[in-house]
Amino acid sequence: MAPATKTSLQGENDSDRVERLYQTVARKIAEMVAQNRHEPGWRLPSERELSEQLGVSRPVVREAVIALEVKGMVEVRRSQGIVVLPEPPHTMNFIGLGADIGPGPFELLEARLSIEANAAALAAERMPAEAMVELESYIDQMHRENDVLLLNENGDRSFHMLIARSSGNAVIASLIEALWQQRDNSIMWRKLHEHIHAPSIRPLWIGDHYAILSALRLRNAEAAKRAMERHIKNVMNELLEASENGQVEFVETQIVGRQGHSNRKSEESK
Ligand SMILES: [Zn+2]
Repeated sequence: MAPATKTSLQGENDSDRVERLYQTVARKIAEMVAQNRHEPGWRLPSERELSEQLGVSRPVVREAVIALEVKGMVEVRRSQGIVVLPEPPHTMNFIGLGADIGPGPFELLEARLSIEANAAALAAERMPAEAMVELESYIDQMHRENDVLLLNENGDRSFHMLIARSSGNAVIASLIEALWQQRDNSIMWRKLHEHIHAPSIRPLWIGDHYAILSALRLRNAEAAKRAMERHIKNVMNELLEASENGQVEFVETQIVGRQGHSNRKSEESK
């Protein structure tokens, strides 16, 4: 059945789409770059300052900066902040709003927050006992995946999807699946992850998963909902902090070595 509106989850056609918030902000930052790039020594303000100047939240600024990174206009470098790259911005096709590169990572997480928290509450009441054992096996898998590239998150995905299915509501399950699918297809998500150090963040997320599992075992819907909310909020905060001007130490060599997701450009700024 076709949806009533054109807000397709896969976002294949953007001709009559309402501009995404991060795109509006990216356009403003691109204009700022165009106006100031000839000033000697001019550099973009920090994400925190941009957030204040533009009156939008830091996650949205983060998304806009990632979008501009994907477009090749700027680069976020540890200790240098947001560096404007040499190409003139009018070749970037962002001021005129080019192709949609999909939903922002924080936008996706915000959607997951509301849907998955409610799914966890339902799952606390409806999940069969065997599924709890299966959930624990996915946390074990997360431990095994802990020292590989962050994008390799099959244990995490399986954990969340099992809770989604255990909500006993196929519509909720398919919505959650669609959100994960968009994440998997997202260039922005991959770009965001180039700035974080998986081995220092993953153990925190694994801890969140144990908290969710405990609440489900207690069949406590309210606690399960809160634990899921806390987990996704933690992910949002940690992704944001980890990428804010590269303040979190990350070891590029580990990331580069494993899957060729090179972060070479930020290595040179060390
Ligand atoms: Zn998770």
